[in-house]
Amino acid sequence: MRLRRLTILLLCLCGCASRATLPSSLSSLAPKNVIVIIGDGMGPQQIALAFAHERFSRHRQETIKKFTQFCDSSLVGLHIPFTEKHLVNDSACAATQLSSGCGCEPQQVGIDAHSLPCENAVEVAKKLGMRAGAISDTRLTHATPASFGVHEEHRSMEDSIAWKLSNSPLDVMLSGGLSYFLPRDAAAQGALPFAVGSVTSERRDSLNPLSNALGRGYHVVRDKRELSRASLPVLGLFATKNMGDAFHEGRDREPTLAEMTQRALTLLENPNGFFLMVEAGQIDWAGHANDAGWLLAEMKRLATLVAVIERFRQEHPDTLVLMTGDHETGGFGFSYTGEPSDGVTFKSSEGSKLNFGASDVINTLDASSRSLSDISREFAALPAEQRTPEKLCEMVRDGTRLELSVESAKTLLSGPEWRSVFYPYPHYIASARLAALLTPQMNIAWSTGTHTSTPIPIFARGPGAERFRGVMNTREFGDRLLALMQARERT
Ligand SMILES: [Zn+2]
Repeated sequence: MRLRRLTILLLCLCGCASRATLPSSLSSLAPKNVIVIIGDGMGPQQIALAFAHERFSRHRQETIKKFTQFCDSSLVGLHIPFTEKHLVNDSACAATQLSSGCGCEPQQVGIDAHSLPCENAVEVAKKLGMRAGAISDTRLTHATPASFGVHEEHRSMEDSIAWKLSNSPLDVMLSGGLSYFLPRDAAAQGALPFAVGSVTSERRDSLNPLSNALGRGYHVVRDKRELSRASLPVLGLFATKNMGDAFHEGRDREPTLAEMTQRALTLLENPNGFFLMVEAGQIDWAGHANDAGWLLAEMKRLATLVAVIERFRQEHPDTLVLMTGDHETGGFGFSYTGEPSDGVTFKSSEGSKLNFGASDVINTLDASSRSLSDISREFAALPAEQRTPEKLCEMVRDGTRLELSVESAKTLLSGPEWRSVFYPYPHYIASARLAALLTPQMNIAWSTGTHTSTPIPIFARGPGAERFRGVMNTREFGDRLLALMQARERT
């Protein structure tokens, strides 16, 4: 494995014109700390939504301003999210590429297309005597954090991923996913140093990742208060499965993404430096659901995270911060329509009216307090006699301030089963169908319920940032990251 990485490094050093000066320049650029922020499903249009909020919202936020300033002050690159043989990527392979520079295929976790494990940034950091952490606002066993911690054939093998994470070299692991770490055996649960309550295990085997982690010295914490007191190494499991969405962040004593990160930075800081990956993972879920109000809320969560990390970077200028996405989700964007709005003054050369989108749409999105997925789920759970078009309109209005017409609601509820090859996930379809009725009035267009091959921006600040300028394949990001970290060996 080491030989493979060395070979890649030598190839990179010798074979690429743009890297011709690496041996001497890299060592002087090697950062002490490296923080990688991944906005899952975050392409250029998602980033532009945050910029639109900064420009047009009646309720400007200091954290969004800091986010746009961070982007504005960074060196910018672009990665093209192809896999080895496919046009579209998923979070497992993309995170494998970003963390290791490995050539993989969709759904593989930390392994290459030949199923061989790929050395990742966490493993390199530990070899270099650095500390390492992984944080997500989804669950620890989900594709992105898993690909920074373990090697697994398929992202769906979450009980195996939990077991491997409990054996991983990570000093800090913070997210949801308790049910995958909890043993299936009730007697083994009883032997744990805390009450399990109503949490049921998702495990199909007899392994006990929690006891294993405790035996390896991890402090297992399950809420904000326990996290504030924990020391290294720490395993934080703050939700049975997924952590709350941005509308419910901090529910049930869950720490926020920014709070988890702030605590991790305090714990990880040391004279040898650290590597930290933080994922804002629900940007992707809002994209799958075609829910622009939820998407904006998730971008605000990311902005708050970036503000925390940027403050740390300013206080520790020997820190490299890289922010990127793994792929784009939903084919999201604003688009002009031929549906005139009040006061429209634009006309095409053929004389038809054009609606270029009122900036007040940002304020409409800003008023959302629930996801369309939550609204759909709650509506579906009502007794049959209450599931009326009028009730659906009321629930949409209460949760989003958007007006769904009774006629549209009738069509939605009485229409034939809706199918599209670009919407393969049943649990997102109700939300996407609602969005299809609501978003044209906001000049919002979605093209899919899955991922796209849109090129993804990279924002880099700190020592070594210039290595991420230019256009690269996603795996080349990982190559450059590892080469920069390994350069520490030569300093
Ligand atoms: Zn996704």
